[in-house]
Amino acid sequence: MNPKAQTIAIYSLALVTMLTACADPAPKDAPENDLISIVTTTGMITDPVTKIAGDHASVTGIIGTGIDPHLYKPTRTDITKLMGADIVLYSGLLLEGRMTDAFVRIAGSGITVRAVTEAIDESSLLAPPEFEGHHDPHLWMDPIAWSLAVDVMAQTLIDEDPTNAATYRANADSYKSEIADLHAYAERALATVPESQRILVTAHDAFNYFGQRYNYQVVGIQGISTESEAGVRDIERLVDLIVDNQIKAVFIETTVSERNINALIAGAKARNHQVIIGGSLFSDAMGQEGTYEGTYIGMIDHNITTIVRALGGEAPEQGMNGLLAEPESKTQP
Ligand code: ZN
Repeated sequence: MNPKAQTIAIYSLALVTMLTACADPAPKDAPENDLISIVTTTGMITDPVTKIAGDHASVTGIIGTGIDPHLYKPTRTDITKLMGADIVLYSGLLLEGRMTDAFVRIAGSGITVRAVTEAIDESSLLAPPEFEGHHDPHLWMDPIAWSLAVDVMAQTLIDEDPTNAATYRANADSYKSEIADLHAYAERALATVPESQRILVTAHDAFNYFGQRYNYQVVGIQGISTESEAGVRDIERLVDLIVDNQIKAVFIETTVSERNINALIAGAKARNHQVIIGGSLFSDAMGQEGTYEGTYIGMIDHNITTIVRALGGEAPEQGMNGLLAEPESKTQP
């Protein structure tokens, strides 16, 4: 071999060695197709699952910010995502009523499909008469109940990937301790509202579990789902409630039209009682992705802080972690 050829050979060998060295850690870096693919419906599932799964899964949520899950129909793209998943997690109790057929089909093709509310004991579920025999699906409004849903999320991952069970368990435990802090803050702050003012009037019936957990009377203008229309009689009954109890504030929701709430305010005004919009609550969807309000903890912190401050209690303007966005001006529309 001449010296030039020898040099090239040495370089080539060095290059091969370098390439091999670079390629070596690849299996540990878990190529994309080794990740567990999880598809979820609402953000209240997407966020905790992402935290529990850590680096071991890719999590895709279908129903985004400001979108009403009661009315959501899966698109063809959604169906493709669902069919390509290893695990599908949905809320259940007919929250995603228009996705039921899709879930049945997907489960039939052998994909793990689970409702995260499946572990909640039937005796803990509410079924107010206006829900017409169905259970109230809005369990995430009670952080303690949602902690049980977090257990189902973790267990589903453990069943799918037992090798990493310890990681999933540890991540779930640390997330549940954040939820426990949230619950402690909620209890403390909500108890500062004068007892006579502990009445929460919202656009639709999403807050029953919240009311049960924290001893608030909860009234939604629309029933279980946003599909039903509030009747004129309901508005009159609610105006009576507001005037009789001198309620200071009612609340709009990010996923529901303000029209009925505005009718309430006008009705109270006609009877010389001023009630304002106390703020906008997240009921069935979280805030913008990438913001604190776009997390489950941030969403509930926002709701609690907004409710407490509007009804005359004491809570820090930016919530339990000082992370809430500056409140919008809460003037009468
Ligand atoms: Zn709802």
